[in-house]
Amino acid sequence: MHGRTRLRRLMPATLLITLAAVSLAAAAPQDTGPPADLGRTAGEAASVVEVRLADRDELDRLVATGVDLDHQVAVTDAGVEVHAVVTPSEVESLRALGFQVGDVVFTAADSERALAEREATIAAHVAANEAFAAAAYDETNPDVSDVRIVRADYYTSFGNQVLSVEAKWAQGQTSSQQLVVERDSGPGTAMGSGGTQNISRFVDAGVYLYHRGASSVSTRPEYVRITSPTGDVAVAKVEDWLSVEGEDPFKGDGYLEDFVTSYLTPTELYERIHQLASEFPALAEVVELPQRTNGYRRKAQALLDPPANRVRVDSPSPAAGEYLFAGPAGYGPGLPSGGISGSFELVDDGSGSPSEGCGPLIGFTAGSIAIADRGTCPFVQKTQNAQAAGAVALVIVNNVPGDPFSPGGSASGITIPTVMISLDDGTLIKENLPASGAVIPGVPVSNSARVGVDSHAWGHEGGTDISIEVVDPGVPSSALSVDVAGNDITVSLATNDAGARTSTAAQVRDAINASSPASALVVAYTYRGNAGGGTAPPSPRRNLSDFLDAPDTVSRDPHPVYALRIGKVRDGSKMGVLAYAQEHAREWVPPLVTVETAERLLRNYASHGPTKQLLNNLEIWIAPSINPDGGHYSFYDFASQRRNMTRHCAVNGSYDLNARNSWGVDNNRNYTEYSLFDGYDGASTSCTSDVFAGPSELSEPENKNLDWLAARPNVKFAMNLHSSGNYFMWSPGAYALPGRISAPRPTLEEESYFWGASSRILTSIKRHRGLSVTPARTGPISDVLYSAAGNSGDMLWYKYGIYAWNFEVGTQFQPPWEGPTSSSASAHQEALEFSNGLVELMRVAYDFGKDNTRPESTLSLSTSSTSGMVNVRFVTSEPAAVFYTLDGSVPTYSSTLYASAGIREGGELLTVPTGTTVHWFSVDSAGNVERNYRPDGGARNYNKQVATLGG
Ligand SMILES: [Zn+2]
Repeated sequence: MHGRTRLRRLMPATLLITLAAVSLAAAAPQDTGPPADLGRTAGEAASVVEVRLADRDELDRLVATGVDLDHQVAVTDAGVEVHAVVTPSEVESLRALGFQVGDVVFTAADSERALAEREATIAAHVAANEAFAAAAYDETNPDVSDVRIVRADYYTSFGNQVLSVEAKWAQGQTSSQQLVVERDSGPGTAMGSGGTQNISRFVDAGVYLYHRGASSVSTRPEYVRITSPTGDVAVAKVEDWLSVEGEDPFKGDGYLEDFVTSYLTPTELYERIHQLASEFPALAEVVELPQRTNGYRRKAQALLDPPANRVRVDSPSPAAGEYLFAGPAGYGPGLPSGGISGSFELVDDGSGSPSEGCGPLIGFTAGSIAIADRGTCPFVQKTQNAQAAGAVALVIVNNVPGDPFSPGGSASGITIPTVMISLDDGTLIKENLPASGAVIPGVPVSNSARVGVDSHAWGHEGGTDISIEVVDPGVPSSALSVDVAGNDITVSLATNDAGARTSTAAQVRDAINASSPASALVVAYTYRGNAGGGTAPPSPRRNLSDFLDAPDTVSRDPHPVYALRIGKVRDGSKMGVLAYAQEHAREWVPPLVTVETAERLLRNYASHGPTKQLLNNLEIWIAPSINPDGGHYSFYDFASQRRNMTRHCAVNGSYDLNARNSWGVDNNRNYTEYSLFDGYDGASTSCTSDVFAGPSELSEPENKNLDWLAARPNVKFAMNLHSSGNYFMWSPGAYALPGRISAPRPTLEEESYFWGASSRILTSIKRHRGLSVTPARTGPISDVLYSAAGNSGDMLWYKYGIYAWNFEVGTQFQPPWEGPTSSSASAHQEALEFSNGLVELMRVAYDFGKDNTRPESTLSLSTSSTSGMVNVRFVTSEPAAVFYTLDGSVPTYSSTLYASAGIREGGELLTVPTGTTVHWFSVDSAGNVERNYRPDGGARNYNKQVATLGG
């Protein structure tokens, strides 16, 4: 600074003109301040004025005064004209020094007017916003706009800019109109310059909740405005949702993570937590929960149906046997009842894919049954080529795994039947040619003629060793009989004088159940409660099956359910945090989130201070798979399995093998609070429903286990991990119909606390790769998703007072491990990002435990539209409950609790007579009371204020 001052003094005047033009105006007042003789008085407003100078010498003299010069220096024939930023006192001083001070270019008033306009605009926005926020949502009050903006959130997700808006409109229940949201394009810009977006009604169970919608934006708006269809207006300032700056402050250098390398079955999940416990015995132990599951096991079953559509391969081919087919095709003839016999022959058309048979066949033996692979040309074309080569039938082998289907197409002149078999079966047959056999149509059967059997033994304990056959004795006047040789049951049907079969399905059922050797092995039943009056058909010998395909490494016994208990002190004295996953079997990613989190906590303990702090102060329960039976079934048998494996269907219902993928209890509907059994919505009494609540509350071992975990007295926080949808939710999770009567809503204080913790947890998730769980998917389950009667989160919250959250991880149940782009669905990335969130939950719990800061609260008063009244709201320094009285009495925990204005809104507006004395105190989530007031004591150190304005 001194250097510049000195330099300027030494400069010739000609250089100074240039300097003044570029930098002097800014530099001079700051470097030296105006000389006292110019007389700038603090508090005066400055204007920009023209100063006309005769020549450069006069400019030098002006500069020497130290006046604040603008960048404007114009040298003209008439002299030099500069702009000076001066106050009225300085103008007088300049005139006294002989300077010619000319026009005022820009006055202080001009500045003030511009500032005032801006401030007025903002004030109007804010006033409008506060009026809407402050006013009770009362459509009968004409002073209040009929539309109110509840949330306006700006965020980025995977780098895309998004604006999410939620608003309530008084006509929302009856009118289906969308609302149009106008956006500005940043501070000081015109409303509407940022474009518009429409938001739509969110109606659930017939009840209008609010309008909501998100849209991509190209710039962050500062304000949004909604003009309702009636012309009422609401304005709101846009808030930032989950802004993420820089590196994760928690992790720091050397933080260890990314321990999951593949999906893990329940067996593997339990192995993993056992390994961790044995590696970190001072920090973790595995706890077996009290209940074992019903087991990955089923009774062996069969339906005594007549033969189905089948391709029969005869001995001596190693592929000898029968293989189900689909068809015949939608074109060409059907199959004769006796089927079509012949040698099987794989087609060859001499092309690059010769076995597809898309071209004329080479060397085919007329009279054979052609086999062709499904591929690139139409089925009809294959059939035409086979027929032209003299084939008597065509068997198409599917080219993808799964069930075959009946070939479609249309053509005239087709004279041979066409069927399809599965890829597996077709491959086996092709590999074992030459062979001969037949293509044989199945025998249709009516449900009245069907009989099912179940083994008494579990499939793996001998049930699958049992076989059963129903035969036509082939002689007239036979009696119905049941014979058993070892594990092989044979039913011989009754015939009449003419040799026709006469036994009904009911009679076959009764005969099996009346035979002591047969009934020692199986129980028989008619099909789904049918009376069984139809004539029972012969049925080929078949083994009963439990249809369970998991390898032997998966136990068939009632399965222990394990949790990992983590913490330096694990005696219940530290605050407990519970994380549990896979209530729903098919949700394969959430269990990975839990084991990734467990491993981060354990492996970082030694070298990462913040992690050590967590484990030294918390007791963390991690249950990676609540429903291992369903989980195994999902991995090995039926990927879409949601529930446990237990069949609660009655023998006259969906009891037979065809229903086996529809059994089980939805573990997340079987709990005790606000359940189906209490009359709440979102669960089913049907044993085949995917939201089957079970026969009674806590009927299932999986649910009893979670109830046991939740009952640990020190557990205060919990996360129920599900997929999918990228939701973050809390209670209430259920309502009753009609009327959408919600389970009790959290208090204003609790709701505020939930939102605050959500922000932390969701910000941690976002840090991994930029995923934003949206505001529209954050909130109470029944507000943002649907009613789920009897869910676990509600039991934890209402029965045990646990802060219970729910993740819905990712966008799919079983996404690819990695995706093609960084924002793609990816099991790996989802496990890592939601583990960030689960670790943050541990930190939320830790902070809660050490919170000893007392809340503070104030009254916010505003004008009421009713004379003699005043509007009152309470403002708290942190999420805190406010208990108040308006009758002058001492506030206690029994006093009125300050409430929320409504779903997803802030505090309610109280309208009280002017002059009312308000007595109140606040208490935060950790139990800290404002001013250390003792509501049950004799002291009077609560808050007290008279509600009056302007007075
Ligand atoms: Zn789920």
